[in-house]
Amino acid sequence: MTSICRFFTRRPPSLILFSRPSPSPHLKNKPPKPHPAQQYPLKFSPMPKKVLVIGGGIVGVSTAYYLSHHESNPSVTLIEASSIACGASGKAGGLLALDWHGNDTASLARLSYQLHASLAEQFNGRERWGYRELTTLEISCTQGKTPTRDVAGVPDWLREGVISKVGNLGTTQSTAQVHPRKFCEAIVQESKDLEVIIGHVSKIIHHDDKRAKGVEVELDDGTKTIEADVIVVAIGPWTTRLLPNIPVSTQRAHSITIATQTPVSPHALFTNIKLKNGNVVTPEIYPRLNEIYACGDVDKLAPLPKFARDVLVDEGRCRQIIKNISVVSELLEKGEITAMQACYLPYSEIGPGPSIGWVPGMRNVAVATGHSCWGICNAPGTGKVLSELICEGRISSANIQTLDPGRYTR
Ligand SMILES: Cc1cc2nc3c(=O)[nH]c(=O)nc-3n(C[C@H](O)[C@H](O)[C@H](O)COP(=O)(O)OP(=O)(O)OC[C@H]3O[C@@H](n4cnc5c(N)ncnc54)[C@H](O)[C@@H]3O)c2cc1C
Repeated sequence: MTSICRFFTRRPPSLILFSRPSPSPHLKNKPPKPHPAQQYPLKFSPMPKKVLVIGGGIVGVSTAYYLSHHESNPSVTLIEASSIACGASGKAGGLLALDWHGNDTASLARLSYQLHASLAEQFNGRERWGYRELTTLEISCTQGKTPTRDVAGVPDWLREGVISKVGNLGTTQSTAQVHPRKFCEAIVQESKDLEVIIGHVSKIIHHDDKRAKGVEVELDDGTKTIEADVIVVAIGPWTTRLLPNIPVSTQRAHSITIATQTPVSPHALFTNIKLKNGNVVTPEIYPRLNEIYACGDVDKLAPLPKFARDVLVDEGRCRQIIKNISVVSELLEKGEITAMQACYLPYSEIGPGPSIGWVPGMRNVAVATGHSCWGICNAPGTGKVLSELICEGRISSANIQTLDPGRYTR
């Protein structure tokens, strides 16, 4: 059985971020299967000298990183409207899972999981962005009810005598974590000769109906045109504003962080909490090196603003997350709240999986979007395969055939 995120469904039930993952036994601990390289006719000649990446979320920065290190040495410019990782990529939990993915993204996820590990190794990610392996548990409890017998395996930072059931969802071989914002910032720093522009891309400028010439960017001091051989659109929830034929929808999600004085054990928790009023809530809890992160449900109550920095935060929703997680931990009830935040998830209207590749009908515009609740996990692989597609005309590191944006054309 594979796990799919609720955001892959067209009408998400919307009470939790992830459906309960059941790692597929047939995938576990096996090396990736070799697969034939995906051939794509090169759409331009010679190799692109200048590539523009739009969007400074994790998908955009990972793409810029792998392009900047490609042996063909293209000049790479990243254009971000607010600041690096100011949307979901800076406000996500940061869980990485090796084998919780369906067929369409299994290959991409394995590649990404390996790339996360090797980037952490190469650039000291354990210290710089909190990369570490995790044990992932599912815990259940009923508020105000003491379980009849003790349950083994409960992390010591949870309340005693409250948890009625513990299940293992992932081991340190199959789940890990990063601090997503710190990862993005470090990856920008480690990109080779990357130019970063803070500006809002208002439109793609076309040469003719099949080829783009560049983009129009709104900067603090006016509007400018930037030309390029290839353009990559990696703007997550905002995709349709530049590419109306790639159907990506979005939902808002709130999260909080709580400071911790002493490190807590590396256990990610998927909870099932039955409240006194009979409601069941399912916040997810991710302890980091010096804080604990938790996120709650999703909503469509506020429209997506033009800028990620202007997302409306409903403090009441954040306080509800804290109230809910306080049922399982005193540390979470009494700790200092360091962030109450919200952001928007990008999800494909027609699933499954994100949309990665050339935009249908365009010769030199690529897109990478709709990663829903797996963007942190799958971004490095996305960046890597896009750099291959753009610089070599073929994808050899992962099989993403079913993620071709052509399947979405409307
Ligand atoms: C609460 C929550 C928890 C999550 N937890 C996890 C997790 O544990 N593991 C996991 O793998 N995933 C997780 N995710 C999902 C993950 O955060 C997203 O899939 C991922 O961040 C999407 O990245 P992105 O780069 O596509 O989009 P974004 O992060 O939204 O970045 C898009 C960027 O484009 C910029 N932009 C938009 N329009 C323009 C324009 N016109 N010009 C220039 N720039 C523009 C924006 O300012 C923004 O910075 C979580 C998401 C949420 C909301």
